[in-house]
Amino acid sequence: MVRFEIISQGEELVSGTTSDTNATFMCAAFKERGFTPGRITVVGDELAGIRDALAEAVRRVPVVVCTGGLGPTSDDLTTEAAGLAFGLAIAEHPVALAQVKARYASRNRPMPPANQKQAILPAGATLLENHWGTAPGYRLDVSGTVVYFLPGVPSEMRRMFDTYVLPDLALRYTLPPRRTIVFRCVGLPESEAAQRMDGVERPGVTVGYRASLPEIHVKLHLDDGVDAAPVVAETRARLGEFVFTVDGGSLAEVVGKRLAARGETVATAESCTAGRIAADLTTIAGASAWFIGGAVVYANSEKMRQCGVSTVMLAEDGAVSEAVARALAEGIRTRSGASWGIAATGIAGPDGGTKEKPVGTVHIAVAGGSGTWHRRLQLPFDRARNLQMTTALALDLLRRQLD
Ligand code: AMP
Ligand code: MG
Repeated sequence: MVRFEIISQGEELVSGTTSDTNATFMCAAFKERGFTPGRITVVGDELAGIRDALAEAVRRVPVVVCTGGLGPTSDDLTTEAAGLAFGLAIAEHPVALAQVKARYASRNRPMPPANQKQAILPAGATLLENHWGTAPGYRLDVSGTVVYFLPGVPSEMRRMFDTYVLPDLALRYTLPPRRTIVFRCVGLPESEAAQRMDGVERPGVTVGYRASLPEIHVKLHLDDGVDAAPVVAETRARLGEFVFTVDGGSLAEVVGKRLAARGETVATAESCTAGRIAADLTTIAGASAWFIGGAVVYANSEKMRQCGVSTVMLAEDGAVSEAVARALAEGIRTRSGASWGIAATGIAGPDGGTKEKPVGTVHIAVAGGSGTWHRRLQLPFDRARNLQMTTALALDLLRRQLD
């Protein structure tokens, strides 16, 4: 097990104006290669803070990457902090200076005096030339730990990470690869997913969860040499019909592929979602082969005009009802000539709820050649997320009929 830590340096990161995307990028890359995550430390433009973060990380782990603070301005303090943390003198590095100057020269500009500072490196540093920006990076080996210093600009950081850090680590460590298998589910709360997965972990197999509304991803991380088949089969059985793909694409993509394979088509009639289901389906390349069209039937008059819903039904059951959802799905299917009709009608909030039909009450329906399926939802989110969830669950209702 080889642990790594990340130090993300920058006032913009601690003040909440910039998200630490450098760390997420690197952590994903490290994990894929079998490294074990330790900590991510985020520090502002504060000399003592950076110094302590570096000194402490080096005591804990053998691999550290520090990004940011290598620029030319007075708030770029990383190199000075590294000198203090590791008891190293800092001095101008002639090759680094030549590289910074050359970069300006190649663009026919003189190097501003401030940029001379970027060529100051701790003693013993191995220079990492920055072909994508001006701030050079470098590597330090300090008491058994390798520390990489990279610029904070994400595009530069990524290229330097791929060009220098990963190949250098590959020389130092041969780690068994880990395989990750992702079960994408919809309509399953994270806590219930965890309950269902209880006991699946075993030596060489760990389970991870990621909620990314409207989906929840259950991940199996398998060590090298572990037989995947039995644990995959067990996971499938436990998560059941909530899984819409294993290692595959989006819900719309799954639905599109199945429709294409069956030579079938779909049309939509959407009240509350107002076209979101149709929009989701048509993000998939080749949708014209299986998507006929969609009606946005927001007002009752449109539910009648475009889907043939009766005045009596609208008056007796109300627009948000099982009867109307079914009638919309059946109406759009018949009128468009599609194999399948999908419909959604509901109260997305924040207003419009009643005692019988509170905010979040949604009816979805799918009509096909052999019947119509319906679900009543009671969604707990805000308006935007209620609509997002309705869209996914409506697509999922169709997906289940195509299984
Ligand atoms: P610096 O290398 O500290 O001069 O940072 C240059 C720019 O890169 C900053 O202004 C930020 O916008 C961006 N940046 C720095 N660190 C990060 C980070 N950890 N994640 C994302 N962006 C960053
Ligand atoms: Mg900075």
